[in-house]
Amino acid sequence: MRRIVRSEAICLRVQDYHETSKLVTFFTLERSKVSCLAKGARRLRSKFGAALDIFAQSRIIYYSHETRTLLTLSDAELVHSFSGLALQPDKFLAAEQMAEFVLRVIQPLDPNPQLYQLLLNYLSTLESLQSSSPPPSSLLTPPCSALVCSFLLKAASFLGFRPELRRCLICRRPIEGPRPAYFDAGRGGIVCPRCAGERRDMAGTGHDRNPPGIPDRVPSRKERSEGLSPVFSSLIRLDPASLDTLSFLLYTPASDIASLVPSLTAGPQSPVPLLDLVLGFLGHHFDPLVLNSFRWHAGLERIN
Ligand SMILES: [Zn+2]
Repeated sequence: MRRIVRSEAICLRVQDYHETSKLVTFFTLERSKVSCLAKGARRLRSKFGAALDIFAQSRIIYYSHETRTLLTLSDAELVHSFSGLALQPDKFLAAEQMAEFVLRVIQPLDPNPQLYQLLLNYLSTLESLQSSSPPPSSLLTPPCSALVCSFLLKAASFLGFRPELRRCLICRRPIEGPRPAYFDAGRGGIVCPRCAGERRDMAGTGHDRNPPGIPDRVPSRKERSEGLSPVFSSLIRLDPASLDTLSFLLYTPASDIASLVPSLTAGPQSPVPLLDLVLGFLGHHFDPLVLNSFRWHAGLERIN
């Protein structure tokens, strides 16, 4: 049965369809992912105007149908265009990374208002960033890169995978003071040096992955109770400053991140590639295909 639905929405993907139409995938506030056919949207005098531009926030009206996944868009009214993002490549790229992640993880009829508001906040913050040029080794400026990293951490949290950054996953003791810790992407958080089996002679060896003397994976509670040998997955050593930066990106509002990034320090001994670390974490908890679109630039980006 066909019925009319009204919703607030963000345009996540816009594709041309035949000579005169567009296919638009929206993140709607009420129904999550909705794919619509916008007939006539490619015509010069289309009634949709800028309401179907990429990242645009719009109020849409579409015809819902129980058995169809591609629906027909009836009307769209622009709320905010975010057109400023298209004027700067690094801002556009950052917004695209956020939108692409959301596009791949949300499901139809599974609304997530927190994630919706998060995306709006981060698009707004990106739009208001002061213009600057990215460093030669990167496609994104440090504030844009930090915002992408922060968005991914928070989006994962709103999808049920918040990384534990304050307590050791094994002994549950808080990580206090300027102490290093190990990040276990598979288990989604940090492990204290003691539980990771760090030996005194390993101190200050940088961000080694699977350093010698450390098993390959943190043992699960079941494994520990059954006395099975501990096997760790990849452990990444985080110096105290990098751990602080990661917590900062997870817990600080978007608007403060952009203004405070220049003051972040990475710690002199171990510049950890935090975006790589975050992508590794996401790769363990979401379909690896979700992350394909990030891989191409993951090796280029460094928060610190
Ligand atoms: Zn511990």
